[in-house]
Amino acid sequence: MEIVHYPHPALRWKSSDVRQIDANLRKTVREMFDLMYAAKGIGLAANQVALPLRLFIVNPTGEAGQPEEEHVFINPVITNRKGAEIGEEGCLSLPGLYSDVRRAETIVVDAFDIDGQPIRATLSELPARLVQHETDHLDGVLFIDRLEESLRREVDAKLTDFETRFRKQQAAGEIPHDEELLERLKSFGESAA
Ligand code: ZN
Repeated sequence: MEIVHYPHPALRWKSSDVRQIDANLRKTVREMFDLMYAAKGIGLAANQVALPLRLFIVNPTGEAGQPEEEHVFINPVITNRKGAEIGEEGCLSLPGLYSDVRRAETIVVDAFDIDGQPIRATLSELPARLVQHETDHLDGVLFIDRLEESLRREVDAKLTDFETRFRKQQAAGEIPHDEELLERLKSFGESAA
């Protein structure tokens, strides 16, 4: 498992619901936490490790060894959004790129936790921003899609750099070509169904 970078097609994939919460999934989630901490992140969606599943993890402190700060959201649905707030975001799939994004100030999110228990959380501030950012990932939406036009223009050159690097890695055989990556995403969904 590894964190994939823009423009890996998994980041544009609309993922499917998790159907079974079992030991295998718990192992996947543990690996995701380890990767997230190693990358110094505070949230990571399954799309970002090329798994087309509707789940993400967060730990707003970004520090390992605090299990009470670790949260897993499985099949999350944001059921209510209120207000608006602009704040800076980054993404482990776009390392080094940051910009201001407008998000709802307060949200209500329904999901399942790693024990399969339904959870409903009313969130604001950083947790609300995190959950909106990560839920977007599950629909193949990135924070760069939500930038105002002037800010989007500012990051365009960096996006081109990401694209160039990714295509070079594909040409060198370090990363499979898009057709194969898409085939993997598609067949994962079929084998899980
Ligand atoms: Zn992200």
